[in-house]
Amino acid sequence: MSKTKISIFNNVYSNTINGKSVTTEDSINVINPANEKVIASAPNATKKDLDEAVKAAKNAFKEWSRKPIEERGKYVSRLGEAIEEYQEEFMNLLTLEQGKPRPDAEWEVGGSVYWAKEIAKQRLKVEVIEETDDHIVEKHYTPLGVVGAITPWNFPILLSVWKIAPALMAGNTVVLKPSPYTPLCLLKLGEIANEILPKGVLNIVSGGNELGQWITEHPEVSKISFTGSSATGKKVMKSSASNLKRVTLELGGNDVAIVLPDVDPKAIAKELFWASFQNNAQFCVATKRLYVHEDIYDAVLHELVEFAKTVKVGSGSDPDTGIGPIQNQMQYERVIELIEDTKKIGAKFALGGQVKEKPGYFIPVSIVDNPPEESRVVTEEAFGPLLPVLKYSDYDEVIERANNSIYGLGGSVWGNDVEQAKDLAKRLDTGTVWVNEVHIFAPNYPFGGHKQSGIGIENAGLVEYTNSQIIMVNKKG
Ligand code: NAD
Repeated sequence: MSKTKISIFNNVYSNTINGKSVTTEDSINVINPANEKVIASAPNATKKDLDEAVKAAKNAFKEWSRKPIEERGKYVSRLGEAIEEYQEEFMNLLTLEQGKPRPDAEWEVGGSVYWAKEIAKQRLKVEVIEETDDHIVEKHYTPLGVVGAITPWNFPILLSVWKIAPALMAGNTVVLKPSPYTPLCLLKLGEIANEILPKGVLNIVSGGNELGQWITEHPEVSKISFTGSSATGKKVMKSSASNLKRVTLELGGNDVAIVLPDVDPKAIAKELFWASFQNNAQFCVATKRLYVHEDIYDAVLHELVEFAKTVKVGSGSDPDTGIGPIQNQMQYERVIELIEDTKKIGAKFALGGQVKEKPGYFIPVSIVDNPPEESRVVTEEAFGPLLPVLKYSDYDEVIERANNSIYGLGGSVWGNDVEQAKDLAKRLDTGTVWVNEVHIFAPNYPFGGHKQSGIGIENAGLVEYTNSQIIMVNKKG
């Protein structure tokens, strides 16, 4: 790598377009959510900048798509190695812009390295569907062209690598837009990738929501891979229809955890806590509704609250912090609004419910004791440290309540009777269900949502970034 670490991780940020660092006239201030101070200015790309990026990606596609997949694998693997080389710098910057404490930053950056390296080993195989003496029918997979990747602010690097690596491996080129709240790590990844990948193969453009919309409308973009809220996902699908883009949408969730009556409340409290509050509950598959059997409800609630009291809420750069701030002001206000609504309806807080003094978007862990099923704290995705704990008495009832949601992303079931727990898991209408564990992902565990939690699958090989092509040959000529 020719640039020095210091020269890359300076506090200057530019887009990466066609192998060059490109500045913009206008910029976006990026805020540290722990103190609300401006950390840096990020580019605010115009439509013209986007056109340049798409043009570069389209040009680069000609050669990139024809390279043998083994060669593309070497490039993607080197990208993983480069993230590893800059692991420390990425973790520090991630904590600064996203707010997450060190263990969460390690999880994300370490995961990004692992994903890039593992996806680099994946291959697209030609399938022979039928073969006779004089005829052969084969199924091939061909790249789509330019992939527009649009990512959120909760796991900015990891969720981008989940898109970049398989899209490139399948022979596509990429234009990626990070969230305007957390563009910095991705802009640095663009600079680093510049030293590794052929020009135009990976373009990183930073801008506001309108830039996302322009990508989805762009006639030269063949596919959108989007992770974000269900509300935005619907807009993405609508504007992607202009040229019938392929879409993968990874959207919101309102995951349940169902706790059976045979568990030991004390033993399980810590895992249940982190199932909900990891990454400050800003996790698409965080437990957002915790259903506990009435026989052990009081004991589980008590243990959960006791454990929660041991976890420090504070700046991510403080090594004692377990839970950082909410990432941005809009989300902070949304969580406060849900807390206020929960108070207004008279529901009881077993813990929290107050907001810490500013500066910083801090909200203490808030646990609500058996609020009404139809209350907003139960039916809406808080995406912050506000958890309703709910009492149930029989399994049919809890499954019906769990599935009574527009979302269907993930969920978990906890019980010593593993067969019983698995039986309930199968009845949840969600893309992933964990039994006696949670938040385990891998580059080869297909991940996607049912209902309004999404369309398409990630981590399911490279096929999601291809067209299928049937080639039939009359062998006799
Ligand atoms: P968001 O939908 O507000 O924004 C996501 C991205 O879309 C950002 O880059 C944003 O600038 C861009 N965008 C906004 N409007 C757009 C438009 N009209 N067209 C195209 N792009 C547009 O989501 P967020 O607040 O950044 O993230 C939180 C949400 O993401 C939560 O709902 C969470 O559950 C979801 N999420 C889902 C997954 C998953 O894998 N299913 C993972 C992480 C987060």
